[in-house]
Amino acid sequence: MSDLLKLSLDDVSAKLKGKEVSATELAQEAFAACQTAQPALNAFTAFDEEKTMAMAKAADERLARGEGGLLEGVPLAIKDLFAVKGVDTAASSNILKGFKPTYESTVTSKLWDAGAVFVAKTSMDEFAMGSSNETANTGPVVNPWKAEGSNESLTPGGSSGGSASAVAADLCFGATGTDTGGSIRQPASFTGTVGVKGTYGRTSRWGVVAFASSLDHPGPFAKTVKDSALLLQAMSGHDPKDSTSLPNDVPDFAAAVGQSVKGLKIGVPKEYRVDGMPAEIDEVWRQGIDWLKAAGCEIVDISLPHTKYALPAYYIVAPAEASSNLARYDGMRYGNRVDGKDLNDTYEQTRGAGFGHEVQRRIMIGTYVLSAGYYDAYYLRAQKVRTRILQDFHEAFDTVDAILTPSAPSAAFGLGTKSDDPISMYLNDVFTVTANLAGVPAMSVPAGLDKAGLPLGLQVITRALDEETMFKVGAALEDSAGFGAKAEKWW
Ligand code: GLN
Repeated sequence: MSDLLKLSLDDVSAKLKGKEVSATELAQEAFAACQTAQPALNAFTAFDEEKTMAMAKAADERLARGEGGLLEGVPLAIKDLFAVKGVDTAASSNILKGFKPTYESTVTSKLWDAGAVFVAKTSMDEFAMGSSNETANTGPVVNPWKAEGSNESLTPGGSSGGSASAVAADLCFGATGTDTGGSIRQPASFTGTVGVKGTYGRTSRWGVVAFASSLDHPGPFAKTVKDSALLLQAMSGHDPKDSTSLPNDVPDFAAAVGQSVKGLKIGVPKEYRVDGMPAEIDEVWRQGIDWLKAAGCEIVDISLPHTKYALPAYYIVAPAEASSNLARYDGMRYGNRVDGKDLNDTYEQTRGAGFGHEVQRRIMIGTYVLSAGYYDAYYLRAQKVRTRILQDFHEAFDTVDAILTPSAPSAAFGLGTKSDDPISMYLNDVFTVTANLAGVPAMSVPAGLDKAGLPLGLQVITRALDEETMFKVGAALEDSAGFGAKAEKWW
């Protein structure tokens, strides 16, 4: 393998446009690298070599004519939640095993329109429910990073763990993810990659298997902040097929990268200093504050008083919406079916066999909190908390331009160490769910390594529709952190 795959998306794009490398060569390298890594990392769920090579050939033809979009010829991996026409799309669930969509998701259509090349589908927690990629029907994904002196397999985080591992291991130049409660930002933090979700509605949900529709945000994983801006730009834009898609024009996100952050007010919320958080997380956060101060930002202590209710509210709203969205998997129209003795028995057997334990748990919680008698006490109350959380952000953004927090309460943990304890798994999302409940843009930027040599990320949150400030601040952190660390290659 040459060193081409180690380049950033932005740098490899320049080489493609300058004809120093062809899209075909690059696709061959990326495809081979993914295949080689698969037995060790288990990051992928489907390949389609013919499609990959045909897309690369078409990109080369456009490049030869001096044409080509923002991502022309760049190989990308796609989370198994996005419908890719003719390619297995199962949301890492047995209930959809073997399902090949006859249509393309809006986000992937936009990526292909920008010239990107499909390289593989990536594994995820089943239906995007999880924080460790251990609930995938194809088994856990392995993080390319290992703690110093240890051979233990670590989680890449979840639910978009396959995408995070693929980008961290330099198997492709970017990947899609979805973030409902942190599923892009937490795996980005665990793998030393950049992970972004824009404002709710910036990227279309059409053709993305639904988890919790009012919280689902498609977004990118990338190696650098600039790459993430280019990817989000290509993915974004109004889509009449998604009723919550924003009509707003998409700014030139990449142009914000590298702009001065001097004079920006950065909020540091006291509620994110949670009990039991490792000292190293606190340390990297303090470091981030110092970097932004040195870059000319003004640091402001702020309060987001309802933060402590965010996680419980999320774990009511998300399962409630999931229980409704997942009702469609009944074995009648598509997906797998287990024939029973009558219709009800067929439904029961199909859903019992098709859904894994975590998905079943969410369906039960969701159905319970929506049921007559409990609706007001749980669902309605959680919605009220959600409004409060949104108000907290509105008030904070009256005085600050961006908010800085850690991305996750720990570094990557060992596979199997939390899978029997749902509450400790859910606690992974404590810093990320707030931005989903409020629908505001948020990203994770690699900021440093812990004592064991594992990556830690910092989160930047900005007001709705202000992704540009997020990218500016993210790039300033990236500059100061100078995070060039890579997982040592063992796969
Ligand atoms: N870990 C969270 C959950 O299990 C978030 C998942 C996500 O963002 N898709 O619900």
